[in-house]
Order: sequence, then C-alpha cells, then structure tokens
Amino acid sequence: MGAVPIVESRLRDPDPSIRFAAATALGRLADPASVGPLLQALLAPETELWPRFAQFTALHLFVVSLRCDHSCAYCQVSRVSADRTRYDMSEETARRALDLTFRSPAPRLKIELQGGEPLLHFERVRQIIEDAHLRAEVEQRDVEFVVTTNLALLDDDMLAFFRAHGVFLSTSLDGPMIGL
Ligand code: SF4
Repeated sequence: MGAVPIVESRLRDPDPSIRFAAATALGRLADPASVGPLLQALLAPETELWPRFAQFTALHLFVVSLRCDHSCAYCQVSRVSADRTRYDMSEETARRALDLTFRSPAPRLKIELQGGEPLLHFERVRQIIEDAHLRAEVEQRDVEFVVTTNLALLDDDMLAFFRAHGVFLSTSLDGPMIGL
C-alpha cells in the first residue's frame, strides 16, 4: 500500500487529532489547494478544535538582519559579518511581512525581532515596531514585541524607544569556558 492511501485511511480515525494530522499530511502529499476544504469538512463537527485555530500563528519572527558583531561558537543562525549589509531586511519586505502578520486571526499578536543581531539594523526594528503599533491601533488588535539581542550595541536612545513602545528584550548570559 502506498503512503497516500495509508494516510487517507487515517482520515476516518475516531481521534480528531489523528484526522487533523492526516489532513495536514495530505496537503503536502496531494494537491495543496485541497487542504482548506478538506480541513473544513474534517473539523466541522469537532467544535473543540476550532478555538485552537482562532489562536493560530500568533507568533511572528522577523529576521531583520543576518549580520552579527559576535561570532559565538554555538551560533545556530546563518550569521554573516557585521559589514555585509545586503543581508539586512528591506523596508518593502518588512511592510509585506507585517501585512502577513496582521492577516493572522489571533487576537493577540507577538512580533519577535531577531538576527543575526537586530540592533545592527535598528532603523528596520524601529520601522516595524512603529508601523505595527499604528496598525494595531487602527485594527483594534493587541500586539507585543520582543527583541532578541546580544545587548552589545544597546544604547540609551534604543532603550528609551523600547521603553516607550513596551518592547521586551530577550538575551542570554554565557558563562566562562570552563575546562576547554
Ligand atoms: S550573538 Fe547570536 S547571532 Fe550573534 S553569533 Fe552569537 S549566537 Fe549568533
């Protein structure tokens, strides 16, 4: 038996989460355009699953630059050196990403700005946060912000901006290299 018939048979499973997984898998294995109506047909009787969809895609990650002024041995991103500005997010890309973000049905959105080191491209960080604040006001949405940073470039002006816009900072404190 091929993969598709096996997955199709799971569409009749009594467990709604297995039916959901099967529908998702079929969206990848078969025609992606069919997954929307298929999911609707599958989930219509399962009212307990719909609230989860209403909370879908609340978190949106914006990689505003792949540049970083550090070179941590454990870095897991495709970090490039601080002088390579072509790895910065453009204004147009940021606007389009915000359009996508605000299409989410989640009542409370979270925008996390990352890198690389996002403070190397603070102009874009500022634009995204200011634009998102305006849109949230117009559309009566809740939005919160997190900037993931190594803190090395943080200055008083940035801190004042973050404080004024209720932005959380996320960082890590690394200990000394013991035994290396
Ligand atoms: S500070 Fe972050 S992005 Fe920069 S090199 Fe270290 S882990 Fe990678």
